[in-house]
Amino acid sequence: MSEQYDVIVIGGGPAGYESAIRCAQLGLNTAVVEQWLGKDEKPKLGGTCLNVGCIPSKALLESSHHYDDAQRHFKDHGISVGDLSVDVPAMIARKDKVVKELTGGIEQLFKANGVEWLQGHGKVLADKEVEVTPHKGKAYSVHADNVVIATGSSPVELSVAPFDGEYIVDSTGALDFDSVPEKLGVIGAGVIGLELGSVWRRLGSEVTVIEAMDSFLAMADETIAKDAQRQFKKQGMDIQLGARLTKAEVKGRGKKKQVEVSYTDSKGEQTASFDRLIVAVGRYPFTDGLFTSNADLEKDERGFVLVDDQCRTSVPGVYAIGDVVRGPMLAHKGMEEGVMVAELIAGEYAQVNYEAVPSVIYTDPEIAWVGKTEQELKASGVDYKAGTFPMAASGRGKAANNTAGQIKILADAKTDRVLGVHMICQSASEMITQGVLALEFGASTEDLQLTMFAHPTLSEAVHEAALAVDGKPIHIAPRPKRK
Ligand SMILES: Cc1cc2nc3c(=O)[nH]c(=O)nc-3n(C[C@H](O)[C@H](O)[C@H](O)COP(=O)(O)OP(=O)(O)OC[C@H]3O[C@@H](n4cnc5c(N)ncnc54)[C@H](O)[C@@H]3O)c2cc1C
Repeated sequence: MSEQYDVIVIGGGPAGYESAIRCAQLGLNTAVVEQWLGKDEKPKLGGTCLNVGCIPSKALLESSHHYDDAQRHFKDHGISVGDLSVDVPAMIARKDKVVKELTGGIEQLFKANGVEWLQGHGKVLADKEVEVTPHKGKAYSVHADNVVIATGSSPVELSVAPFDGEYIVDSTGALDFDSVPEKLGVIGAGVIGLELGSVWRRLGSEVTVIEAMDSFLAMADETIAKDAQRQFKKQGMDIQLGARLTKAEVKGRGKKKQVEVSYTDSKGEQTASFDRLIVAVGRYPFTDGLFTSNADLEKDERGFVLVDDQCRTSVPGVYAIGDVVRGPMLAHKGMEEGVMVAELIAGEYAQVNYEAVPSVIYTDPEIAWVGKTEQELKASGVDYKAGTFPMAASGRGKAANNTAGQIKILADAKTDRVLGVHMICQSASEMITQGVLALEFGASTEDLQLTMFAHPTLSEAVHEAALAVDGKPIHIAPRPKRK
């Protein structure tokens, strides 16, 4: 007779660990199966997000931002700092310390909430039986009334550019370079490629981004994407669009090793050579070794575990959440799904509002949005109105010497309901929550117009953008946007 739980969660990333903690808070006897081994070969919780994703990338973005600021902007404030230098190993060590503290924090939260951590690989058998294979020792079985699959995702590897872990790397390798590559190639101008490219550009790399699509940041609002492209170009990031990678291989010996890259674009065959190449072309749902054939779980054609709006799979009592299911591969989306599933298991009513999932790109300026883009509204024939406000007219932005970017609000022309909030500016990652709240509460632009914003703040630009929707911004000449 195997050990019995109310809930077994497979995967201790943000989706899985939040789900487990909420289950335990609701009085459910809960275990998490997690197989991650850190750089020190010790078991870790926190998944991609804490170990090699959101947190370490933001730690390096923060460090590199300080360096960039000191190098390019301090003088504008009358501050000189003499000779600047970067100690890459120290920067990486600080990042690793942040990761260690946060992953250890999840372990503490598990203990405090009574969540059991079963270290090793989990495999879903029939009838909600889970086989756990520890890192050392023999496999054993556990059983639960409910199983939650939260096994996340892995970086896509291209057959024309196989990872070697040193010169051609995925996002994980790009978080651990031991020095600043003089010439850095990035395949893919998505969120991860732009963020990691930004880290190393700020530290001194000459960065070329090779992107197969003809348009830049197609998932963002076009106005914001255009502005972003302009800003990145100004910063010296070379972004090649419509450029399809055909081959990447490491050539040369010793210190002279280089990554030779071939790609095709509208002008024909192109070549380039880099000291390092980051391949960031997307992630795939990770279900390797997760099911036996008789587990009966259905997947879609792209390998995502098939679920309904409340993350139920095709097998009663088995749920799937986070990157392993449809929807944006974002930590906060998985976290909310994890909490929803825990509450459903406990018999409560729960749901996730997929219409209000914020997206953020932590570049400089930051880019963030929620809701519909202008091109989506046009395509679906919605009668809308739009207002934008440039950060150049923000008093706080001016005081901070950071006037790049703008905020754009889209609203239903008849009902005035806010349909989308888009921003490119300093602290957009924080400010976008105002847009999320507006969507969540079904706010109108009039609600935002009537809200009092503290002065001087960057957030006042949200207020002004809402006023601009009706052609009445205070700090710019009114220019109501026409369709
Ligand atoms: C460089 C980078 C930066 C990112 N930045 C952001 C960001 O700023 N904001 C954001 O929202 N998202 C960001 N993401 C995406 C984010 O990391 C993911 O969306 C998030 O981690 C998904 O959470 P998850 O719990 O579904 O999966 P994961 O975090 O991938 O966790 C899955 C866990 O399951 C474990 N597992 C898998 N299979 C098994 C098994 N059979 N048995 C036991 N354990 C198993 C894995 O070891 C892993 O720990 C970033 C990703 C990367 C790579």
